[in-house]
Amino acid sequence: MRILLVEDDTLLGKGVSAGLVQAGWAVDWTLDGIDAETALHSICYDAVVLDLGLPGMDGLTLLGRLRASKHSIPVLVLTARETLADRVAGLDAGADDYLVKPFDLTELQARLRALLRRSKGATGPLLHHGRIVLDLTSHKVFLDSAPVELSAREFATLQELMMNAGRVRTRGQLEESLYGWGEEIGSNTIEVYIHNLRRKLYADLIRTIRGVGYTITAGNN
Ligand code: CA
Repeated sequence: MRILLVEDDTLLGKGVSAGLVQAGWAVDWTLDGIDAETALHSICYDAVVLDLGLPGMDGLTLLGRLRASKHSIPVLVLTARETLADRVAGLDAGADDYLVKPFDLTELQARLRALLRRSKGATGPLLHHGRIVLDLTSHKVFLDSAPVELSAREFATLQELMMNAGRVRTRGQLEESLYGWGEEIGSNTIEVYIHNLRRKLYADLIRTIRGVGYTITAGNN
């Protein structure tokens, strides 16, 4: 899954960005509101971590514009403003969650996981599909209850397919969900992840739709 981080404090941005990557997400980081709005209209993110005090366009304005254009992406607001009025303004503008600085990185990771789960319609931290269970909190995978070792990106590929069960994900969509800006992607990288997933789990788990992409069949629960 791919997260947009909007934070103009470079030290904090660096730390948060590293923390999100460590939690297994692809992260793009912008330092101002205008760049963030451009990115949101060109790339399909799963969530936004949004600072409020920003150059260009402040966070509340950006959030208001997003919601006015019916953009329903989950937004977690980060702010140094801790008055009740500011909090209410943030939530009224369409924030899904709120974290006051300074905060603990593990709390941000946990809140973001909960937000992503809610937005994808999953009810708990476990995602089931047939013989497979993904634990979204610990990033562990089980096949017939036995743990299976997957790399962070293999896990992310499987999660993306399972959360979209019954729909086809193109190679481009999978790449977008797995990689941030400027990250080098080999031309057959996704094929390698799919190959590894079939080998480590089972062969007919993921179907190739020739010339389109990949899918996990729905209703196999
Ligand atoms: Ca700021």
